[in-house]
Amino acid sequence: MSTTSESNSFSFQAEVQQLLDIVINSLYTDREIFVRELVSNASDALEKLRHVQITEKKIFDDNLNLEINITCDENAGTLTIQDFGIGMTREELVENLGTIAHSGSKAFLKALGESGQNNANLIGRFGVGFYSAFMVAKRVRVFTRTWHPEGKGYCWSSEGKGHYEIEEVEGQRRGCKIIIELQEEHKEFAKNWRVKQILERYSRFVQFPIHLDGEQTNKMQALWLRSKNEIKEEEYTEFYKFAANTSDEPRYRLHFNADAPLALNALLFVPQNSPEIQGLGRIDPGVALHCRKILIDSHPKDLLPEWLRFLKGVIDSEDLPLNISRETMQDSALVRKLNTVITKRFLKFLEEEAGKNPEGYAEFFKEFGFFLKEGAATDFSHRETLAKLIRFESSLTEAGKTTSLADYVSRMKEGQKEIYYIVAPSRQAIESGPYLEAFRARNLEVLFLLEPVDEFVVSNTREFDGKSFVAADQDDLQLEETPEPAGESLGAEETKELCLWLRGVLGERVGEVSAGKRLVESPALILNADKMMSMMMRRMMKAMNQEADAPVKVNMEINPRHQLIRNVATLRSTNEPLARLVAEQLFDNARAAAGLLEDPRGMVNRINQILEAATSAKP
Ligand code: ADP
Repeated sequence: MSTTSESNSFSFQAEVQQLLDIVINSLYTDREIFVRELVSNASDALEKLRHVQITEKKIFDDNLNLEINITCDENAGTLTIQDFGIGMTREELVENLGTIAHSGSKAFLKALGESGQNNANLIGRFGVGFYSAFMVAKRVRVFTRTWHPEGKGYCWSSEGKGHYEIEEVEGQRRGCKIIIELQEEHKEFAKNWRVKQILERYSRFVQFPIHLDGEQTNKMQALWLRSKNEIKEEEYTEFYKFAANTSDEPRYRLHFNADAPLALNALLFVPQNSPEIQGLGRIDPGVALHCRKILIDSHPKDLLPEWLRFLKGVIDSEDLPLNISRETMQDSALVRKLNTVITKRFLKFLEEEAGKNPEGYAEFFKEFGFFLKEGAATDFSHRETLAKLIRFESSLTEAGKTTSLADYVSRMKEGQKEIYYIVAPSRQAIESGPYLEAFRARNLEVLFLLEPVDEFVVSNTREFDGKSFVAADQDDLQLEETPEPAGESLGAEETKELCLWLRGVLGERVGEVSAGKRLVESPALILNADKMMSMMMRRMMKAMNQEADAPVKVNMEINPRHQLIRNVATLRSTNEPLARLVAEQLFDNARAAAGLLEDPRGMVNRINQILEAATSAKP
C-alpha cells in the first residue's frame, strides 16, 4: 500500500484491485449476498468484542448493546449497516480493507486463476467478504471507532477504483457504520421490504439482534437446543445453509444431545461435496463451538480431530467455562472429552448409515472417504472404528465399486488368515500386472489400494478382525500350494542353473532370483525383499529424489513354464549376448510392472537390439 498525498489517500494492493474489478464488472446475478457478507462481518466484530469484554477492563462505549442496526434511505439511495463491535484503528483499516487478509477472497482469486472463467459462479461459492459491497455501490464509506479507550474515529471511503481515503472524524460510536451509496440500477437495496427479504433468507440465525429500520428481524433461535421432533426439515436445511454459508442441501445430518460424561448439544452436517478440491488446500474446521448459545469460536482447531474438518454445524456445551479462549482450548480436558464423545457418536452414526443405506454411504465415501482414510492413517484412537468405515475396490468388485473389510472377511476362503492387498496407481495397472495371477489362481480376493493414503491406512490399522494386512508383492508371502499348472516346464536342475545365471547377469540390482509358484501367465516379477520399506514408500522416495539413500532390495521370481523363460534357458548356450539382453529386459519389464523403473530411456536402445535380432532370425 502506498500513500499518494498527505498520507490520507492510499492505493489498493494489486490483488484487491483485481478482485474489485471482477466484482464490479462481472455479471453476477445474486448481488444481494453483499448484505449477508456485511452482516456476517458485523456479527464477527460483535463476537470479538464479547471476547475482549472478558479480558479487558476499559472498553470504549461499554454501555452499548451488542446489536446490528440496518437502515434504508430510499430517497438518498443508501443502505447503512452499523454494529457496535470491536471497530478498527487506522492501521487495521489499511490492513483489513486495503489488502487481502481474508482466506475466502484468497481462495476466490486462486480458483479464478485456475478456472479462468465463470467468475460469477465463483463469487457465490467463496463469498468475497467486504469487497462484495462494490457489486452494488458507487461509493462505500466505513465510519469506525475501535474499542481501545485511547483510539480515534475514522472514515474510510472508496469508489473501488484504485484507491481509498482515510480521514479522522469526531464523535464516532464504537464499532463500524458502513454506508453504501447505491448505483442507480441497484437502488432496490435501499428498500425496506427487499432488505428484509434478504435478511430472512441469509441471516436468520445470526446470534445478535438485527434491527431493520428499528424493528428486530431475527429471533435469535438456537436450533440445536430445541427438541428434535419439533424441528421441521426446512429449518434444519436453512440452518445448514447459514452455518456452512452455502446453497446446497446437506448430505447427512446428526442432531443429538448428551448429559454424561458432560452436557452437550450437537448439530452436525455433512455437505454434498468435499470442500477440498482443485488444490485449494486445507479448509478450516467448520463446526462452531458455543457455550449456552454464546459463540466461543466459529472455527475451533482443537475441538474435533483434524480429519473431521469437513463437518459443518454447531456444538454447544454448558459445561465449558465462558471465558475459555482459543489458546487455552488445546489444554482443556473438557474440550478433549467433548472431542472424544462427539467423534465416537459421529462414527457410530456413519456405521448406522452404512448399514441402513449402503448405496448412499458409498456415495458419501466417494466424496469424503479421503478424510476417513486420513483419520485411519494418522489417528490411533479411532482406527478400529474407522477401519469398519473404510472402503476399497478389490479383485471381486466392479471397477469403481467398493467393498468393506467386513465383507472381505466374510468372503475369505477357509484357512485364509490374512487380508491381501496390492498398491498401484490404477485398477488397470493391477489387472494387467503380474501380481494378481497367483491370487486369482487360488481364488483369493485382493484389495486394490489405489490412492497414496491407502498404504498408510493399512500400515497404521495393521489388522482387521484379527487378520493382518499383507502386501501381495511381499517376498515371504505364504500361499497354499496349487496343483502344478499344466504345460511344459523347465526341469528343476535347468531352472536352478538359469536362476544362478540371471543373478550373475543382473548383479547387485537383485537379491535372489528363484522360480516361484505365483506366476501363471507372466514370465517374471519383482518382489519386495525389504519388510521395512514397501514398494510404495520406495516409489515415493523416488518421487522425492531420495532413491540414492534407499538401497534397492528386490528379489526376482521367474516362471519356468513360460515360453520366454524356456527360450532364454536355451538361448544362453546358442547366443549368450542376446540372452543377456533379454535377461536385462525381463528385469526391466518386471520393475516397470512394480512401478520401480526409474529411467526407461536405457531400455530403448536395448529393445532395438532385441528387435533387430528377432527380425533377422531365420524361420
Ligand atoms: P473476512 O470478514 O472474511 O475476514 P472481509 O474482506 O469481509 O473478510 O473483511 C476483512 C477484515 O476487515 C475482517 O477480517 C475484519 O478484520 C475487518 N472487518 C470487516 N468488517 C468489519 C466490521 N464490521 N467491524 C470490524 N472489523 C471488520
